[in-house]
Amino acid sequence: MLNQLTISELTAKLASRDVSAREITQSCLDQIARVDGKIHAFISYDAADALAQADAADQLLSAKGRDASRPLLGIPIAIKDVLAVKNQPLNCASKILGKFTSTYDATVIEKLKAAGAIVFGRLNMDEFAMGSSTENSAFGATCNPWDITRIPGGSSGGSAAAVAANECIASLGTDTGGSIRQPAALCGCVGLKPTYGRISRYGLVAYASSLDQIGPFTKNVADAATLLGVMSGHDLRDSTSIPQPVPDYTKALTGDIRGLKLGLPKEYMVGGLDPEVKAAVDVAVKKYEELGAEIVEISLPHTDYAIATYYIIATAEASTNLARFDGIRYGARVDGADPAELYSKTRGAGFGAEVKRRIILGTYVLSSGYYDAYYLRAQKVRTLIRQDFLKAFETVDAIITPTTPTAAFKIGEKSDDPLQMYLSDIFTISCNLAGICGVSLPCGFTQNPKLPIGLQLLGKPFGEETMLRLAHAYEQNTAWHQQRIAI
Ligand code: GLN
Repeated sequence: MLNQLTISELTAKLASRDVSAREITQSCLDQIARVDGKIHAFISYDAADALAQADAADQLLSAKGRDASRPLLGIPIAIKDVLAVKNQPLNCASKILGKFTSTYDATVIEKLKAAGAIVFGRLNMDEFAMGSSTENSAFGATCNPWDITRIPGGSSGGSAAAVAANECIASLGTDTGGSIRQPAALCGCVGLKPTYGRISRYGLVAYASSLDQIGPFTKNVADAATLLGVMSGHDLRDSTSIPQPVPDYTKALTGDIRGLKLGLPKEYMVGGLDPEVKAAVDVAVKKYEELGAEIVEISLPHTDYAIATYYIIATAEASTNLARFDGIRYGARVDGADPAELYSKTRGAGFGAEVKRRIILGTYVLSSGYYDAYYLRAQKVRTLIRQDFLKAFETVDAIITPTTPTAAFKIGEKSDDPLQMYLSDIFTISCNLAGICGVSLPCGFTQNPKLPIGLQLLGKPFGEETMLRLAHAYEQNTAWHQQRIAI
């Protein structure tokens, strides 16, 4: 079925006119109608609008054929509910935005549309991207397509589940502390977090601005390279985007990784790491050796401080970013006798428990008397964590780790224990603190139940080409990515 294919497979079929964009889009919509009642990856979608975009793509194909300037022509791509798409609802899976509708396209959306993509749907997530399980959504939880009693990961759980369940061809998510890589690992797809500054965040609702990046979920590495190329680049509307040329990432996928050095951090292969996950990563490391890469043990000595550092910096930034949701400027409002009462009633009713917890934590670490002890110290430790990586990258081309310490856990298993939930990000968070790039790709399954396991590769700042080359070579020499869910 068309909805099961990759961007590159569909692009070839569209070019030869074997299929139409309408047929591809309809196959995704049919799959959503069939399975999304169980998975709940989508908060909403507009089928008529998606089909209208598909018809426009088909007209372009008839008139002009396929041309290189539109690498996504006719490909349906679904969007996390945190990115602005003109005239579509934007809720961040929160009640506080009410019936808010975006008035403009985020830069990444403009770029996807210019490349010919059919941009559709609002994918479920943890409220304001705070969480690791997509249970913190005001619209209800998303289920893992491999086992619907389990979480899909988070916060971009809807984005991962929709790709894994073939409800779209690819999707967009965001990654502040692992929110692309962790759900990609738990749902068995490819998830890429670009280097900080590679992609404009204009039109992304900010969670923690010094950490947030937008990235793709795909069925294979080549599709991730294609989407990264389309979305990357400097944007005057996001001053943190960096004016660095955008290479053709698909050209980096040569299959030849001989002589590349891969660092294996000794601090990552210990502690709460599940034995089946460890075994799968050990086998992947051997595979890399077989393919001609050199494995080097490295040390990232400040790893132990990453979670604490992240939860100070991310909550501090969130507490200021979320101040704008006050009942005056956007979305829902609960009236009060005076502005203070209006703010407090609106925010009290509009935000969920995890968002409130983080606003309180963030406000605390920024308050006078505590700023130096927490926030300033966390910034210093962040610098040490970044230095760990930059030092390692003096001797290795990329770093190899598990993406998550365990496979997908049960819905409800960690929802009453925030600390346990925070610990599930142990391998993904440092990458954001360091501002480097990372990708997760399938590297095996647990046995009983059968659940996907993810392998993480971390690359140098703007080292996406080498990282993708390494990911692609592994993928092409294993069959994990071909194991799809029968759903
Ligand atoms: N799970 C982490 C958090 O809750 C990361 C979330 C993310 O990357 N958006 O903050």
